[in-house]
Amino acid sequence: MILCERKTIGSGTSSMSGAMCGQQSEVTDTISKLAVRALDIYENFDERVGGDPGFMNHGILGFSPSVEAAEARADAARKNGSIVSALDIAGVTEFYSELNVEGYGAGVLYPRTGCVDSYQTMQAYAQQARKLGADIREFTPVKRIDVRKGKIEAVHTSAGTIAPGKVVLACGPWSHKVAKAAGLRLPIETTQVGVSFYRQPPDFADRPPVLSAELAIIPWYNKHFRILRDTRKPLVRVQPDPTDAVCPQWMVDHTTEVIEHRLPKMKRGRFQGAYQTCYDDTPDLKPLMGYIPEVQNLFLDCGWSGRGFKFAVAMGEYNARWILNGRTELDLAPWLATRYALS
Ligand SMILES: Cc1cc2nc3c(=O)[nH]c(=O)nc-3n(C[C@H](O)[C@H](O)[C@H](O)COP(=O)(O)OP(=O)(O)OC[C@H]3O[C@@H](n4cnc5c(N)ncnc54)[C@H](O)[C@@H]3O)c2cc1C
Repeated sequence: MILCERKTIGSGTSSMSGAMCGQQSEVTDTISKLAVRALDIYENFDERVGGDPGFMNHGILGFSPSVEAAEARADAARKNGSIVSALDIAGVTEFYSELNVEGYGAGVLYPRTGCVDSYQTMQAYAQQARKLGADIREFTPVKRIDVRKGKIEAVHTSAGTIAPGKVVLACGPWSHKVAKAAGLRLPIETTQVGVSFYRQPPDFADRPPVLSAELAIIPWYNKHFRILRDTRKPLVRVQPDPTDAVCPQWMVDHTTEVIEHRLPKMKRGRFQGAYQTCYDDTPDLKPLMGYIPEVQNLFLDCGWSGRGFKFAVAMGEYNARWILNGRTELDLAPWLATRYALS
């Protein structure tokens, strides 16, 4: 197994990720299965993978318009083994007294979940993969791909040419550029997301949960919050290699406004900096997965938008079997790349 990485492991969007894992804002059977398996891996990481993913299991608190909607979501997630409870507004306030619940109907609490350190997680996987014989080639960008009679015959990199058996394309927001080298048009657009950091005041809750609401408000190391602000409203397209990674002031202003409204104690918090990066969005915001008829030995795993990290550790296990055996045990119909014409 050869992995070609144009820079270093962790130089893509994964290391910018909030890396929230376990919660399911959209609940389907497949998503619940992946979320439960991913959580099992993170909770037992040293045994399952080896190393430390920096798992901060503060819990994740999401919101629903009504108690009935929260209960329906919790029931659906529970079916596959998620630990989750629906809370009425009094329950939300009891659980998180700092939170201003104005406008929320009910809460959905995933108490065992949280977020991991994405960079640390990737390094742990890379280290174990190397031990198992993977050939990880950093600073080796893929430059050209030769396709003949519907098959990739050669992958040209800056460090030579590879004649592959199967090729997995998982280049996040660069995937459509790399796919172009194989004559494919992937429907991926890269959209702006801002990441801001705020220090909590000293009297703030010891272990605040992740808030998954109008912004994702994620407790980070040393009593900081890391806050994600996407730009679907309004949609702003950016390049994955921005020459200017500075987060626009309007995003920081909006983030500050929301965090001070939702967590009034944060008026005494401190802004600590921000940057911008991007999501790899498809038109329906669902990933592009699997083999495609246009190029038979190419497997796609991209277009994960803002939710690829939480599934990745579980998806990887399923994908390994899928890539080798040509079929998957999961019902992935909504995510199959074959839903689009790619040539
Ligand atoms: C700010 C932010 C917050 C997020 N928060 C969450 C979250 O809380 N939970 C969640 O589940 N998901 C989250 N996501 C989404 C998640 O991080 C992504 O879906 C996932 O990490 C994407 O992983 P990837 O491996 O597909 O892409 P990437 O991590 O971007 O990796 C792609 C790699 O391909 C390499 N590459 C590019 N071109 C070439 C080439 N020509 N040759 C060789 N290599 C190449 C790049 O250098 C890069 O290392 C977030 C994303 C962002 C941006």
